[in-house]
Amino acid sequence: MRLGGPSFWYADIGLPDTRRAALAGDAEADVAIVGAGYSGLWAAYYLKQAAPDLRVTILEKHFAGFGASGRNGGWLSGGFAWNHARYAQTAGVGPVRALVRAMMGTVDEVIRVAEAEGIDADIRRCDELLVATNPAQVARMQAECDHRAAWGEEARVHTIGPEETRARIAIPGALGAMVVTGTARIQPAKLVRGLALAVERLGVTLHEDTEVTALAPGRVSTARGAVTAPIILRCTEGFTATLPGLRRDWLPMNSAQIATEPLPPEVWDQIGWAGHEIVGDFDHTYCYCQRTREGRITVGARGVPYKFGSRLDHNGEPDAETIRRLTAILHRHFPAARKARIDHAWCGVLGVPRDWCATVGLDANGLGWAGGYVGTGVSTSNLAGRTLADLALGRQTDLTALPWVGRRPRRWEPEPLRWLGVRAMYRLYSAADRAEAAGGPPSRLAAIGNRLTGRA
Ligand SMILES: Cc1cc2nc3c(=O)[nH]c(=O)nc-3n(C[C@H](O)[C@H](O)[C@H](O)COP(=O)(O)OP(=O)(O)OC[C@H]3O[C@@H](n4cnc5c(N)ncnc54)[C@H](O)[C@@H]3O)c2cc1C
Repeated sequence: MRLGGPSFWYADIGLPDTRRAALAGDAEADVAIVGAGYSGLWAAYYLKQAAPDLRVTILEKHFAGFGASGRNGGWLSGGFAWNHARYAQTAGVGPVRALVRAMMGTVDEVIRVAEAEGIDADIRRCDELLVATNPAQVARMQAECDHRAAWGEEARVHTIGPEETRARIAIPGALGAMVVTGTARIQPAKLVRGLALAVERLGVTLHEDTEVTALAPGRVSTARGAVTAPIILRCTEGFTATLPGLRRDWLPMNSAQIATEPLPPEVWDQIGWAGHEIVGDFDHTYCYCQRTREGRITVGARGVPYKFGSRLDHNGEPDAETIRRLTAILHRHFPAARKARIDHAWCGVLGVPRDWCATVGLDANGLGWAGGYVGTGVSTSNLAGRTLADLALGRQTDLTALPWVGRRPRRWEPEPLRWLGVRAMYRLYSAADRAEAAGGPPSRLAAIGNRLTGRA
């Protein structure tokens, strides 16, 4: 089994043979972007579409797509994963519904650009299927469906019963599923690599092997020189805690995945899954799965959710216990794949703000940011990139009026409090899942966990 490196998606397409040139001395730009994941690349893409002469420079510590953008589960969901009511407290209900609509639109927009730019990212339109396997989960599923419908997703969310679920996918004990239409599956690294090439074609300067060491108004510092620019966009999501002064802004949350070997047709005959849906469940410690282009199953879930002191993983290598847990989920949901070899295991970090609500913005000093997507960055980063472009160009648009713009939640607590809080939250989630799997009613433990960390 391969570990990390940084993900199966690069084992699939190969790591870059050579890196792009690092920054060599001081330079000037109109917009400097820190981080070449989806957020930074989308921002650069839309900036150059709107203003082709703009000098846009991206500084990337490793290589374009090294972070979560090259490691994720490939769910292009357009889903709203945050707390509607929290945004509504400051913005009102209408603008939150506008944000929900904007999020739904990201799926078509990503696919439109991928087609226009000739990016082959194994994109396949499909439904999202979240399966409930015990009575407590059925209750949560119905509540979630009603909640999402009430906030504007009524046309794309519905539930199905056990027979219809089984007709789509043979997950043992499935009592029903929530179906979200209008979503898609992607190969993450192919998308980020294609985007990097697309922005270069538009004239963006992209430096790799260039670690930003400090950010100040008008100036980005690296060991190889500084870039001066009136607008600086910080697009480092789960890595933000490593930048000076930002250790407690967004918590680096870990997520891990495994990929099986390609499964033979007789195994697929047993599983079904002919619609290639992106599949998850209603556990509090939920999982996310995809059927890949060549018939592997990837299973993702939280590994060690958070490391003391906001530390990051080493080259995307998960620990043995995390791999065991992911494999157990694979065997539980897809017993027909029990004998399948696990070819790869990896992990990465995503960013979680203190209020668990994504944010994008640009302050009066020309310092911008995007992130805190809490696990839905594949689609959200596209909306963030379009919004950052409008903000950087000084345009007031429908996007810049959305309620996530300019949101500044308070910082996370110092250690050991944030480590204790997140650890306790996940322990409570696991206990709640065990109690519900034993046939118990919806457990209150998860709600206690959510209150501990302010998630809900
Ligand atoms: C395992 C996993 C599974 C996920 N699954 C899904 C999913 O299925 N669907 C979904 O919607 N979302 C998913 N997410 C979340 C999603 O992938 C991210 O939210 C999204 O990719 C973030 O993009 P980004 O460009 O903001 O950050 P990243 O892709 O993390 O890019 C940040 C970049 O900044 C660079 N950087 C960091 N520090 C510096 C520095 N000092 N100087 C210069 N560069 C620096 C990094 O090297 C990196 O390339 C998942 C995340 C993980 C980790």
